[in-house]
Amino acid sequence: MELTIRQVRPWGGRMCDVSVSDGHIRSVEPHDPDAHQSGEVVEGRGRLLLPSFSDVHVHLDSTRLGLPFRPHSAGPDFWDLVMNDRNNWRSAEWPVERRATHTLGLMIARGVTRARTYAWIDAECGLERFEGVAAAREAHSDRCDVQIVAFPQAGLLREDGVVPLIEEALRNGADVIGGIDPCLLDRDPVRHLDIVFGLAEKFQVPVDIHLHEPGELGVYSTDLILERTKACGMQGNVTIAHAYALGGVSEVTSRRLIEELAELDVSMTTRAPSVDTCLPLAELTSAGVRVGLGEDGQRDYWMPYGNADMLDRTWMLAFTNGYRQDELIEHCLAVATIGGAAVLDPTGIRLKGTADRPGLEVGDVAELIIVEGETVTSAVMDRSPDRTVLHAGRVVADGLEIL
Ligand SMILES: [Zn+2]
Repeated sequence: MELTIRQVRPWGGRMCDVSVSDGHIRSVEPHDPDAHQSGEVVEGRGRLLLPSFSDVHVHLDSTRLGLPFRPHSAGPDFWDLVMNDRNNWRSAEWPVERRATHTLGLMIARGVTRARTYAWIDAECGLERFEGVAAAREAHSDRCDVQIVAFPQAGLLREDGVVPLIEEALRNGADVIGGIDPCLLDRDPVRHLDIVFGLAEKFQVPVDIHLHEPGELGVYSTDLILERTKACGMQGNVTIAHAYALGGVSEVTSRRLIEELAELDVSMTTRAPSVDTCLPLAELTSAGVRVGLGEDGQRDYWMPYGNADMLDRTWMLAFTNGYRQDELIEHCLAVATIGGAAVLDPTGIRLKGTADRPGLEVGDVAELIIVEGETVTSAVMDRSPDRTVLHAGRVVADGLEIL
């Protein structure tokens, strides 16, 4: 099926007509107002053409988007947040399947066509939350590619019975094995990480580890993860999420870790946290480390932030990094789109540095968003609702509504 996108500006450049077939970009030509187009035509109306968003860190089983606003009820510590979700998710107005399906639809309508979501698995919820997320993936399978992480949110070792449940999820369609704070949560980092990497080897799946641990403790856990990545030959298949330690250690340690992350091709994901914990974004991408962005929790039992809009989250990434220059703000958009795509698929296009704007060349996959904006930076600042979203070369959303 052929489709032509008329009158768009790829990455804010000159006005072009772009043809798409079989899910790929086939031509990018200067705009010709008299050209005859066969097949379906999408009117760009002078808008920007960008790669679609990749939300590579989202918890679809916790979301409360679409439900009445609920004042935050958790205590200050991490375990308080865990228990706040555990004690309340069953009494949500909608079951997990409906909440996850609704939120994923909102994300797609705003420009996401690639996502990695966590599904909480433990002895309390069993596979119930995983199954709700899997149903949401199925409901939107024509609009978005979704990877599901079998995620031990409450630890692997604190409570009995978690590991067999994780294995069951991996047998039943989970794509990635998750881990979390091996020192602070399970208090046995070697055992925790050996289980995670052991399951990765057994099921031949990538690893994705939440690392909230600060300072030297976070560095210690990162070193253990790097050690196992090398020993298990998992280069290209390990992701560390958050990595707050990297934002708060000495320059020498930070430089060493970035070099090793690049060498072992370990990717990083961030949710654009507060200023003192944000990743050294430009240094990471310049060193060749794959970095992606995600919404994380969205108006859920963890935090009231997050609205299914990765363009808003891109603004947050630029803001928390203190960026003013156009190149760096545009780089945030490149991270939120192509950067994340390379986290999900290490064989995909990789960002080469802060000035690199790939993803819209002939032969590239047609995972696209058309959005109103004078320039790429102004689109990040204005976050217009005038958007058209394409997945696999087909229009899947327009004007913030899924089709
Ligand atoms: Zn998370």
